[in-house]
Amino acid sequence: MHKISSYNFKKLNENYLISNEYGFYEILNKKEFDSFKKAFFPKKIIDKQFSNNKLDLELIHSIYFKKYNFDWKGPHTHIISITGKCNQSCLYCSASSSDRSKDMSFKTAKRIIDFIFSIENNEFFIEFTGGEPTSNLDILTKIFNYAKEKSKKTAKSAYFSVVTNLSYRNEKIIDFFIKNNITVCSSLDGPKEIHDKNRIKNAKGSSYEDVIYNIKLLKKAYHKGLIEKPNLISTITSLSLNNEKKIIDEYVKNGIYRIQLGMAEPIGRALINKELLIDDKEYLKFYRNSIDYILFLNIRKKIPVYEKGLKLLLYDILNFHSASKRSVDIYNRLAYDYDGNIYPSDELRLIGENGDKTFSLGNVFDDDFKDLLSKDIAKLVMLYQLNKYLLPYCFHCPYNNWCRVPLYYNYASQKSLWGNMLLNQRCSIFRGIFDMIFELLENKKYKNVLTNSLDDFF
Ligand code: SF4
Repeated sequence: MHKISSYNFKKLNENYLISNEYGFYEILNKKEFDSFKKAFFPKKIIDKQFSNNKLDLELIHSIYFKKYNFDWKGPHTHIISITGKCNQSCLYCSASSSDRSKDMSFKTAKRIIDFIFSIENNEFFIEFTGGEPTSNLDILTKIFNYAKEKSKKTAKSAYFSVVTNLSYRNEKIIDFFIKNNITVCSSLDGPKEIHDKNRIKNAKGSSYEDVIYNIKLLKKAYHKGLIEKPNLISTITSLSLNNEKKIIDEYVKNGIYRIQLGMAEPIGRALINKELLIDDKEYLKFYRNSIDYILFLNIRKKIPVYEKGLKLLLYDILNFHSASKRSVDIYNRLAYDYDGNIYPSDELRLIGENGDKTFSLGNVFDDDFKDLLSKDIAKLVMLYQLNKYLLPYCFHCPYNNWCRVPLYYNYASQKSLWGNMLLNQRCSIFRGIFDMIFELLENKKYKNVLTNSLDDFF
């Protein structure tokens, strides 16, 4: 006789989704669910750790080991803002960049790299951001070269990326990225009429045309094996609504099959241009229409387009990964501003640059990595990894293993670290997306498309 271990459940249409602490799930029909509640287990869940007297302790240990970073030495990802200046004035800019903002000095840049390489990890992912990092090209080149040198001297690997708006015609910059295999992360909000409205150049001209021009150069280099595929995000604002097909077609037209549909954040200039921000219901409708269209393009037109965020969630769901593995502040990432102030994440760095220094952990001139960890604010942020145990609403949620509602969002939108999930729009969005995922996974045709090449994704 089985003894049921703790589980959460949710009714999904006619069926029931059950999930457990270890990241396993199953969809049961009503009859199966009724027997399950009486501890009669259908065969398909026997190995899924729902039975307390049949737990695979070795497996559970390996899941916890991964999930709670038992071998943790420090964060791998380091996001460095080398300038607050920008050649654009995007309506939703989280950084509120302007020509009057500051540049990072080389002294500070070096100190940040020294700080990063003092962490005991053997590999680092270093991302340069801004403002627009190419508007401080001198420091961008110098900090990159210094980090390369440091990587050689310490025999620690370093991988580089840059967040750039690509809103310029300067092949020297693009050559610099290609020659040094620096992965480019940029924005393409959709067709010209949407992109140019959101992303406004300070000088005359169309930012859309520059982006498309530069993407062509980067794609050529990718096909020659010189650089990673560029990562492009479409920031979803009120201008995107009802334009799902146009936005996705724009990507496909330019031969880009990886699309990321990210909602504009309630940080920085977006709070001034509030009419651009959309709510959870609007986003969920937009997202569902987009995924339906993506499925249509895959099945009917054989175009292998996918949404990056959905792939990441699917990867976690199907591989017993948890959100904590990748996206928890401090555990997985740190961010630095142009003065060398250290923050748990880039979004919290942006909140800091907008005037609220609550989450500043210290400064590379004053603190070493161990100092940071002993600070109360660092401990609080790291505790957020356990939010699914600490928030009653999340504790009973069947999606709590995979949910990624970030701390910065709770703080920016609800002025609370933990958030009030009953009213939290990101919670509502995640619940909606998970409902959709589990519904789609029940359909063989859709499941094949969604999980296609999932293992090659990373
Ligand atoms: S934030 Fe919402 S979706 Fe996420 S675990 Fe909590 S209740 Fe579930």
